[in-house]
Amino acid sequence: MSARILVVDDVDTNVRLLEAKLTIEYFDVVTCNDGATAIELARTEQPDLILLDVMMPKMDGFETCRRLKDDPATRHIPVVLVTALDGRQDRIRGLEAGADDFLSKPYDDLILMARVRSLTRLKIMVDELREREESGRRFGIGGAGVERLRGTGGRIVVVDDNAEQARVLMAELGRNHRPVLANSIDAGISAGGVDLMIINAANASFDGLRLLAHLRAREVTRSLPILTIVDLKERQRLVKALELGANDIVSAPIDPDELSVRVVTQVKRKRYTDFLRERLERNLEAAVTDVLTGLHNRRYMASQLQSMLARANRGGEAISVLIIDLDHFKSINDSFGHDVGDEVLREFAVRLATNVRAVDLPCRLGGEEFVVVMPGTSLEDAQRIAERIRRDISSEPFRALAGKAPLDVTVSVGVASSVDGDTPETLLKRADQGVYEAKDRGRNTVVSRAAS
Ligand code: GH3
Ligand code: MG
Ligand code: MG
Repeated sequence: MSARILVVDDVDTNVRLLEAKLTIEYFDVVTCNDGATAIELARTEQPDLILLDVMMPKMDGFETCRRLKDDPATRHIPVVLVTALDGRQDRIRGLEAGADDFLSKPYDDLILMARVRSLTRLKIMVDELREREESGRRFGIGGAGVERLRGTGGRIVVVDDNAEQARVLMAELGRNHRPVLANSIDAGISAGGVDLMIINAANASFDGLRLLAHLRAREVTRSLPILTIVDLKERQRLVKALELGANDIVSAPIDPDELSVRVVTQVKRKRYTDFLRERLERNLEAAVTDVLTGLHNRRYMASQLQSMLARANRGGEAISVLIIDLDHFKSINDSFGHDVGDEVLREFAVRLATNVRAVDLPCRLGGEEFVVVMPGTSLEDAQRIAERIRRDISSEPFRALAGKAPLDVTVSVGVASSVDGDTPETLLKRADQGVYEAKDRGRNTVVSRAAS
């Protein structure tokens, strides 16, 4: 799938020229001639990158960029401002408006393409996280607002053996971040918990680009933001740095203000991807966890049981399941209220989890019904464990009625072990029949059901 690029310029020849260049490189190109349409297209077409002219009548590029970055529907799309001006002030202004990069006309094709590729690559990575995170969010659990993510206070490692340049870097970064200087390649590589690494491509004692390649090849540093310092006159080195996966380039000699805004952009983006990753993990966790008790939920139990049974059916050891149903639970709710009922379920979950082995899988099926899946366990052993759980529950009253009378709780347990050809349904069915029979025999009882 080729990346989609939105080209915005009020001069039509400029649009056509860029369109032609990008199309040759197999990009999918969308175009328009003004800021308002660009904002509209950005929302509807969701391009992977926007090349935005600065000098346009009505809404200029700065304002267009600002609006794109203010809108949650478009703020994740990288924006490259394109202008005839090479003024430093404009560059700073553009970066402050939230632009991800800046290109001056007439641009060097090689550099243009390297920049475009590097930014679309990054965008695709962030998209993947966003997508996975969004599908995870359907299981509930929102998160803190992305809006509050800041681009200051970053932990930054500077790898630069040029003493004078390093001094400038450290002084500027020290104003808003927590920089550390690593003047050897080893110090740079061992850095953990880092928000951004700044690498001088032209070190005297080692090859900065080799370090960059090395960091990109390793799993732990693959997605670490890296800003590379390159003399823009060294065109090959610049293109190479982008190809190797530098997230951004600052030109030497360093302009402290430009460095400053580019660093903020990188740190902010790092926080954003961290935020997405963390929320994704939390959502995955929520997808397999029962909210009330913290035990595994039915969905997770079903998938685990499925794969364990497949293994057992291929000649592995038998697995056993317990289904545990609290006795007369409805009357606890009726007498003391739903909250006390919930508290009983939570306490039961804790006791259950501490009463089984680490390899066993205690789950809440729903209501007051629980399952324990036990790999490598015979029917006799499972029966013994079930009996121990039953005894433990009935012999020690629950503390749910804090301060008041202790609460007697009992359980009925059905036990079953897998035989060849069992499915999760047939196995659970037998355990369930055990529960019925236990209830029938007067509750507070364990009944195991062998396969017929
Ligand atoms: P038996 O001994 O035959 O199992 O009787 P029981 O009362 O335990 O079983 P029944 O299925 O009749 O009632 C279960 C009750 O559990 C009814 C329902 O309101 C209650 N319940 C289900 N989920 C929850 C929950 O999350 N919290 C609380 N407090 N109660 C729940
Ligand atoms: Mg019950
Ligand atoms: Mg029930």
